[in-house]
Amino acid sequence: MKRVNILKIGGVREFLLDFIGEEGVGIIELLAEKGVVDEFQIADLLDKEVNSVRSLLYKLYSKKIVSYTKERDDEKGWWIYSWQLHLQKILSLFEKRKKKTLKYVEDKLKKKKDAHMYDCHVCLIVFPFSEAMENMFQCPSCGGRLTHKSDKEEIKRLEEQRRELKGKIKELEGIRAG
Ligand SMILES: [Zn+2]
Repeated sequence: MKRVNILKIGGVREFLLDFIGEEGVGIIELLAEKGVVDEFQIADLLDKEVNSVRSLLYKLYSKKIVSYTKERDDEKGWWIYSWQLHLQKILSLFEKRKKKTLKYVEDKLKKKKDAHMYDCHVCLIVFPFSEAMENMFQCPSCGGRLTHKSDKEEIKRLEEQRRELKGKIKELEGIRAG
C-alpha cells in the first residue's frame, strides 16, 4: 500500500473522531506526518504530559491502530517506546464501518420498498401492495384508482446514501490495493 495521507480521505477524520476522540486524532495526525516517533517527542510536540500521551497511545494500541518498538536508553536506564501508525488497520476499520452502514441502508431500503402501500383517497383505505395488485389497483369499494403511498423522499435519500457508500468503499479498496 502506498503511503497515503489517511486523514485526507473523505470521512476518515470524522470516523476517527467518533472512534477515538479529538486527542487520539491529534496523535494520529502527528504520527501520519512524522512516521516513527518516541513518546517523549510526541508529548513535546503536542505540548502534553508524557503520562497522558502514554495513556492515549495505549488506547490506540488496544484498537490496534498503532504499534510500538522499545529500546533501552542505557544512559538513563529506562525504556523508550517509539510509536507508529497502522494505516492499513485504520483503512480496514473505516471500510468495515462503511460496509456496515451500507448493509443498514440496504436493509432499510428493502423494508421501505416492501412496505409499499396503496390507498384510496375516496374511501380512505390503505392496501398493502399484494392486495392492491390483486385488485388491479382499483379500490374494491368504489372502483377508484389506488395510488402509491410510499415515502418517495425517504427512498430517494436512502438510494443516494447507498450510492455514496458504494463509491466510498470502492475508493477504499482502490487505496488498499494501490
Ligand atoms: Zn375507494
